[in-house]
Amino acid sequence: MKNILVTGGTGYIGSHTVVELFDNNYNVIIIDNFSNSKPKVLDKLKEITKKEVKFYEGDVQDKTLLRQIFRENKIDSVIHFAGLKAVGESVEKPLEYYQNNIVSTLSLLEVMKENKCKNFIFSSSATVYGTPNKLPITEDMPLSTTNPYGSTKLMIEMILKDLYTSDKSWNISLLRYFNPVGCHHSYLIGEDPNGIPNNLMPYIVKVATGKLPILNIFGNDYDTKDGTGVRDYIHVVDLAKGHIKSLEEFDKNPGLVIYNLGTGNGYSVLEMVKTFEKVNNIKINYKITERRPGDIASCYASPDKVYKKLKWKAEKTLEDMCKDAYQFEKKQ
Ligand code: NAD
Ligand code: UDP
Repeated sequence: MKNILVTGGTGYIGSHTVVELFDNNYNVIIIDNFSNSKPKVLDKLKEITKKEVKFYEGDVQDKTLLRQIFRENKIDSVIHFAGLKAVGESVEKPLEYYQNNIVSTLSLLEVMKENKCKNFIFSSSATVYGTPNKLPITEDMPLSTTNPYGSTKLMIEMILKDLYTSDKSWNISLLRYFNPVGCHHSYLIGEDPNGIPNNLMPYIVKVATGKLPILNIFGNDYDTKDGTGVRDYIHVVDLAKGHIKSLEEFDKNPGLVIYNLGTGNGYSVLEMVKTFEKVNNIKINYKITERRPGDIASCYASPDKVYKKLKWKAEKTLEDMCKDAYQFEKKQ
């Protein structure tokens, strides 16, 4: 049984990936500092998987702790989710974002190298495409960023490419996620952001459950089907399964690979609201407001490469995403 170190494993995408890892007979070791997650996730993971998760509380920047983890466990591969991810906050606190995201990755890679563990999956983001010059987005398109969060993702991709150039025995997978939503079918784990959500679906569910009064739709004058922003929403369980395929590829097709993890479908904000209302039989209060600074009109993936290479594609529908997100929020 292979041992997988999951950094940020109590977070949103990490926790769903931990479930899939156990389902696929991997053994999991998590490190997380709970900066954006809660200890109760560990109990929920145990409830879902009926397995014991080995957990280390601490910061991925802490090389002493990382060395201890590698000493106490024979780690085969690392999936690196840990990082700060709020775009707006990154503009206000750039140093914290560079410090946390870049230094944690460097520390991790250094300790992996010391321990001759060279299989690495990195949580990158569609944000590295900046404002795409064509759609759907393919992996070979130009990269740029518009905020410090995006810059950390792009810089880490560059670091990983340089590392691979220096030593081809690394297996590195850069997974560029589009917009994950939804939750595990048990509704025990899901997206549970602190404070007022920044992202669309977490905001919609808070309006649906009466915790927030009204959804602000940021602009209806974009060059899109109905003027509101278009994104590629992907069910988090599909996204989590993509990591299993990526791990399997390390044995079959070693090297550095880059994949978009999206569905290939673009939905507008209004389509999201309408689908959510229909599936859950509930009205969402909304009003149209100003555009949000830094937003782009449309962003959706070409999922062709990842399907061709890994035989992975998203299975769940927008209806599944809307239903699951609402059910999870109702339980909070
Ligand atoms: P999340 O905040 O729910 O999970 C991240 C986890 O990492 C949290 O549990 C947090 O406590 C932990 N963490 C952060 N810094 C740490 C550190 N230095 N040491 C130890 N633990 C630390 O976020 P998520 O949505 O699950 O995202 C996971 C990864 O995927 C992130 O790297 C994020 O940038 C990337 N990503 C997310 C999205 C998205 O929309 N959710 C999209 C693209 C990429
Ligand atoms: N959005 C919105 N109201 C909100 C949050 C988001 O209208 O309260 C819009 C946003 O302008 C974008 C889409 O919903 O067009 C997705 O935004 P999100 O922040 O979830 O993802 P990202 O923009 O990072 O892809």
